[in-house]
Amino acid sequence: MSDEPDIVCEGLVRIYTAQGVEVQALQGLDLVVQPGEMVALIGASGSGKSTLLNILSGSDTPSAGRARVAGHDLVAMRGRERLDYRRGVVGFVWQQSGRNLLPYLSGRENVAMAQDVAGVIPRGERRERVDALLDQLGVAQVADQRPAQLSGGQKQRVAIAVALANGPRVLLADEPTGELDEATSAEVLAAMEQVNREHGATTLIVTHDAAVAEHVDRTVRIRDGRTSTETLRATHTDEAGRKVRVAAEYAVLDRAGRMQLPAEYVSALELRDRVRLSLEPDRIEVRPGSGAPAQVPPGDKDAPVARRAQRDEGPDAAQTPRPPASTPDSETEDPS
Ligand code: ADP
Ligand code: MG
Repeated sequence: MSDEPDIVCEGLVRIYTAQGVEVQALQGLDLVVQPGEMVALIGASGSGKSTLLNILSGSDTPSAGRARVAGHDLVAMRGRERLDYRRGVVGFVWQQSGRNLLPYLSGRENVAMAQDVAGVIPRGERRERVDALLDQLGVAQVADQRPAQLSGGQKQRVAIAVALANGPRVLLADEPTGELDEATSAEVLAAMEQVNREHGATTLIVTHDAAVAEHVDRTVRIRDGRTSTETLRATHTDEAGRKVRVAAEYAVLDRAGRMQLPAEYVSALELRDRVRLSLEPDRIEVRPGSGAPAQVPPGDKDAPVARRAQRDEGPDAAQTPRPPASTPDSETEDPS
């Protein structure tokens, strides 16, 4: 189990049905996070980030696909295992501090309560762990205040202490800085980075905050319920001996060979419906797919041209007139 990733999602699908309308919140999402990694998850509103975190936290189950966290199969997991999982294996921090902390308890009591409810940490070690966590997160001085008396940043730092109260393998945070100003967000992100380093908890943090890039080595972008790109960062030393952060963005290729083209690339070349692919010795080229079939070079007809465009054309596909009596293999051109 030791060399198994802490988070593995394969082809994860979550379909919500509300008033007879189906929403595919996750559409075959793949994600792998190694033990101890800190990864940021970014993406437009509605792209499926919270849906993913709800599944990973054990409070929701996927409609299809596979999800394993710290050796637990989240699809098969039932009753007692699910409860133990939620109490001891994962910790979570939500955007709204009201969801993280009980208002009538002090910060210290909130952390202690999380331990007492779970019963994972031996009784004799609880108090010491509470103090250590609050100290580490820089909220020891305000530990006896109730949430209403704390600033937004202090509340979220106490919330991180609550999330870590039972020594989870995995820490999940859904927009923990969403209600904070820039400076306070940076403080909270730095605190998460520090606990990730010191506790070694695998950390997945959803954020809109571009500044998160400073604190993580990997950023995963979700688009339409699927992982679309990943940005990897590393620190190098340049010729002058200075430390420089370098970032490289990668498109994500799933097991079926699918990938999403970045929206900017699609609009820059006005790509629509179908594209032409050609294999070069060291790369694959993607070109606009419009052009009369006559222009297709002989012999190129069987190239993996995007005939798949027949599938996913969206609502206006039905209105696209097809040439009558087209041969089965003809590549119809969009007349627009
Ligand atoms: P994000 O966190 O990235 O903003 P969400 O995971 O909350 O996105 O939502 C993804 C999609 O699923 C959205 O279209 C949203 O409207 C829909 N959705 C989320 N939760 C529910 C639900 N309980 N019932 C119906 N649709 C939902
Ligand atoms: Mg969300």
